[in-house]
Amino acid sequence: MRSLDDLLSEGVAGRRVLVRTDLNVPLDKATGSITDDGRIRASLPTLQALRDAGARVVVAAHLGRPKGAPDPKFSLRPVAARLGELLGAPVALAADVAGDDARARVAELTDGELVLLENVRFEAAETSKDDAERGELADRLAGLADLYVDDAFGAVHRKHASVYDVAQRLPHAAGRLVARELDVLTRLTTDPDRPYVVVLGGSKVSDKLAVIEALLPKVDRLLVGGGMCFTFLAAQGHGVGGSLLEADQVDTCRRLLAEAGNRIVLPVDVVCAPEFSADVETTVVPVEAIPDGQLGLDVGPRTVEVFGAELGDARTVFWNGPMGVFELEPFQAGTRGVARAVAAVDGLSVVGGGDSAAAVRQLGLDEDAYGHISTGGGASLEYLEGRELPGLTVLADRSGN
Ligand code: ADP
Ligand code: MG
Repeated sequence: MRSLDDLLSEGVAGRRVLVRTDLNVPLDKATGSITDDGRIRASLPTLQALRDAGARVVVAAHLGRPKGAPDPKFSLRPVAARLGELLGAPVALAADVAGDDARARVAELTDGELVLLENVRFEAAETSKDDAERGELADRLAGLADLYVDDAFGAVHRKHASVYDVAQRLPHAAGRLVARELDVLTRLTTDPDRPYVVVLGGSKVSDKLAVIEALLPKVDRLLVGGGMCFTFLAAQGHGVGGSLLEADQVDTCRRLLAEAGNRIVLPVDVVCAPEFSADVETTVVPVEAIPDGQLGLDVGPRTVEVFGAELGDARTVFWNGPMGVFELEPFQAGTRGVARAVAAVDGLSVVGGGDSAAAVRQLGLDEDAYGHISTGGGASLEYLEGRELPGLTVLADRSGN
């Protein structure tokens, strides 16, 4: 895989460089303002290096899940504004992805200038399963540039036009963020220092069962919290009230528990409430006694102690997925407690996942206390599963370079 430095050493002054970045930041539902700009900040080193080298920088990115057509709700406008603030220079936003306005704006770029294309997912072809459809968009994107840099680590597991197909059409390199993420993931997968402890939470068990399956043989302990713990608790025979439950995954969870022996560690208590709201009365109950009609929305204080003890002697930790509904104040303590325990680890601590990374920042924890905060949840999980990531495979193919 060629690095950004390889590209810079060949000289990029005056050349048009298309950079796929991950600017998929969370927005406040009511105001539309950015609630966590971590991904924008993570994109700066590559963009700044290219600008300093005199490249004409064309940035492609997606935001949210628009339905393959322009939708003002998902415009990159707030992102362009924030990116401009962070770069210290206004960032122009094209009105389209790779249409007339994008072409006109790219033609006007001078050396060291940058333009942001509108949300690539405004084009249905971006995420199409049809190679020809994606290819047509990739052709138009490639027409905007001489070189391609992929720095969108959070999207490398997607076979999308701006991630995969366009890299086949231009000389390409991996950006600084992609390089750094890969460096850390390689340390997690090649002979990690032990004990190696993985903490998983978040909402969807079915998304994460594959990674549990792949990690079980490699880890010393796997701590499971968040919404996904209830399917495991159900597999142990506990009632889970109205908590998140994926009934069709209970059997798989039962098998995983049997295989793992005591290496899978589940919560011992949970914070319950009658509904998903910030102004409700909460109760802490042991996992054996979750009342009907109550939802488990966070792990309880005893669980934080248990998980903290399990993390105490760890030398390598990967944490993905909040322990509770950290967006609501009454259900933050579990995530905060586990985040503190992960930060205190004497060794390599990696946080992966958009919501987990946002939780670290929103709960006021010190980002520098972690070895690495990954910008890509799905991508890092798929890497740890040992799956092939299309965006990386295509970068490693140097035949077009
Ligand atoms: P990440 O983005 O870090 O990979 P996920 O997207 O898998 O994490 O999960 C994050 C979401 O999980 C958060 O929005 C959080 O509110 C939710 N969540 C955590 N615990 C629970 C729970 N007990 N019940 C419902 N949702 C939960
Ligand atoms: Mg998420």
